[in-house]
Amino acid sequence: MSQALKIKGLQKIYANGFRALKGIDLEVREGDFFALLGPNGAGKSTTIGVICSLVNKTAGTVLVKGVDIDEDFPGAKRHLGVVPQEFNFNVFETVEDILIHQAGYYGIPMKTALERIDSCLLKLGLSEQRNTRARMLSGGMKRRLMIARALIHEPSVLILDEPTAGVDIEMRRSMYEFLREINEAGTTIILTTHYLEEAESLCRNIAIINNGEIVTNTSMKNLLRELHRETFILDTREPLPERIQVPGFEVSRVDDFCLEAQIEQGQDLAELMSRLHGSGVSIISMRNRENRLEQIFVSLLEQAS
Ligand code: ADP
Repeated sequence: MSQALKIKGLQKIYANGFRALKGIDLEVREGDFFALLGPNGAGKSTTIGVICSLVNKTAGTVLVKGVDIDEDFPGAKRHLGVVPQEFNFNVFETVEDILIHQAGYYGIPMKTALERIDSCLLKLGLSEQRNTRARMLSGGMKRRLMIARALIHEPSVLILDEPTAGVDIEMRRSMYEFLREINEAGTTIILTTHYLEEAESLCRNIAIINNGEIVTNTSMKNLLRELHRETFILDTREPLPERIQVPGFEVSRVDDFCLEAQIEQGQDLAELMSRLHGSGVSIISMRNRENRLEQIFVSLLEQAS
């Protein structure tokens, strides 16, 4: 299967000695809708910055559609549309001029550029603002202009850094619609967010980054299942048999007097205890194992509220 993005061993140490990325690996398949989720300061923008060469990496490789950014950055860049967090267009220019300049930068003929601008502005609900100077646009409009500009050369991979920051709920919905539409038409989309809900409603696959490390990289479906699962550590009075099985439950032996049990949402812990008891295993104490993912999510939720 071809990869839209492949990152290997990516490290970033900033000039002040801070290790923002501690050797991350990430793969995003072509056509995917992928979320890079993490709390503020996790390293999301740094990762995006490296991909589009705004940030110099310390070590590691980045391939966009198989093209190594160190070997052929212009080649990689052609496949890539990036929407950074900060608005970085000239606010004194009109929407159309900003897009025409961007098209010119990629050597797109004027006629084609104008056609693309028509369709892009229409889809993003900005047609009426075509001749408006960017500084007069609302925050949401500016964000959409950033998206239009990133799409003008029809990249196959679109990366958005916190795309809904400062965008109201109504506009958020239509932005989601638009992103879904272009994803269905074949564009790979990678977005960073610190809202689980945003990732959940849009993305098929997800990586969670925390303190410059990828904590998990899985499908959205698996992540949600994992989040709703609790792990208990159970201490037993008598030594456990070599092999222990409890029908309907996932249990594993930690040592002679300890076992670990996974409780899915909707499963009954009392039921597990009684089944264990029935097979001659009595539990003398029990504790909940700290869930690293849950801790991250607590900090994500705190930020979102
Ligand atoms: P996120 O996008 O997930 O919020 P960032 O990638 O912006 O995180 O930042 C990751 C960490 O790197 C943060 O602790 C941030 O303070 C630090 N950082 C970002 N830019 C710089 C810089 N230029 N110099 C030093 N540290 C930086």
